[in-house]
Amino acid sequence: MIATHAIELDERGLLLTCPHCGKINRMDYSRLGQTFRCGQCHNDLPPPGEPVEVPNEAAFNALTTRAALPVLVEFYADWCGACKMVAPELPKVAAEGAGRWLIAKVNTDNVPGLAQQFDVTGIPLMVLFKGGAEVARQAGAMAASAIRQFIESRSRGGNT
Ligand SMILES: [Zn+2]
Repeated sequence: MIATHAIELDERGLLLTCPHCGKINRMDYSRLGQTFRCGQCHNDLPPPGEPVEVPNEAAFNALTTRAALPVLVEFYADWCGACKMVAPELPKVAAEGAGRWLIAKVNTDNVPGLAQQFDVTGIPLMVLFKGGAEVARQAGAMAASAIRQFIESRSRGGNT
């Protein structure tokens, strides 16, 4: 099986490359967590299991307000040493939570408006969104197991 390429996102949804035929499929944020089939070859697409990079504010707002699953957002920057420690941890958490939660990354240098909007004063910063709202945040580097625990403990309850 071909490894999935980087998942992209925009203001309308996730762009997933089909591992069977290579077609790029769009998955609406509101359908996250559901079984999704490739529009071309009709095979099931694997649920998104890798961190996605947020390209702009429009994509971020669409994702966090419409996602049917909890979304963990890491605010980071390339010059941040502690962020480099987190970088290899996030793919593990994303893979473990495929179909249960989504991991997104915001480069605070590329999308500075978001850092301002969320009052990000230190990085790395993890912010958990559920049902269109921020439900928790935690600053500082965390190992994969701690990140997973953070998501699981804070995303419980509500209308799941
Ligand atoms: Zn396909």
